[in-house]
Amino acid sequence: MKRSAFIPLLLALCLVLTLSCPVLAEPATVVCSFYPIRVFAENVLKDVPDVTLQTLAPAGTGCLHDFQLLPGDLRALDGAKCLVINGAGMEDQFLPLLRKEMSALPLVDCSAGIALIEEEHGPNPHIWLNALNARQMALNMGEGLAALLPEHAERIRANAAAYADRLTALHDELAAQLGGLPCRDIVTFHEAYPYFAEEFGLRVVASVTVEPDEAPSPRMIAETVELVRACAVCPLFSEPGVSSDALQVIASETKQPVYELSPITDGDGSADDYERAMRKNADTLLEALGTAEK
Ligand SMILES: [Zn+2]
Repeated sequence: MKRSAFIPLLLALCLVLTLSCPVLAEPATVVCSFYPIRVFAENVLKDVPDVTLQTLAPAGTGCLHDFQLLPGDLRALDGAKCLVINGAGMEDQFLPLLRKEMSALPLVDCSAGIALIEEEHGPNPHIWLNALNARQMALNMGEGLAALLPEHAERIRANAAAYADRLTALHDELAAQLGGLPCRDIVTFHEAYPYFAEEFGLRVVASVTVEPDEAPSPRMIAETVELVRACAVCPLFSEPGVSSDALQVIASETKQPVYELSPITDGDGSADDYERAMRKNADTLLEALGTAEK
């Protein structure tokens, strides 16, 4: 073949290939602020191609009450499609700096439309510990990500809807399981459980501390002891990996047993980890509160 005939043929072949192949989506990185958001995103972005998930807070961070951005975090966010946040104040320690340093980075706020519980210090941010809130958060995430990744919008919305259905089923299952508890008073380690209590009709008599790293004052401990003594049954709930002297003092003063509830801020990262952890928390509550003779 003459060179003069070969080049137009090559161009024609390229044109045919270009027109016949689907447009490849740009690879995108979606960053989640912390663990529960990451688990929700594993479901909402299931089987969505060319999207990489990352989590800003390293494993073991827990809640983000004291989380500060390091220069490496800003580098990790540079070029990301978006940062998906819990909202409701959970990221307030670092959002002002992030907005200043990376004003163009889109944020997907999962808390939109969720009724917040007000504490003395402001809204309680632990909204994910309630299956119906988690459902709303997954749907919010789905809408936000579908708008930012329009080429995958259909799959993202379908994933969010399917996960929302699972979370509705989880709520129904746990509500049935916990509906007949004879006692409903609990004391928790940190102020993470009012949304969970609201969902299942429990009463958080006291929380030993507002934030996990904060040691309660002797006066707060004494007040909690009085509140627990006023209840017939009031088990205490620590958290995995927590060793709280204050909780031990309260337990020995009131002779109440200590159990463990997970705030679901750590885990193996699997897509069903939120559901498994919520079921485990419900089982623990049944064990702690479910004996009618107590
Ligand atoms: Zn917390």
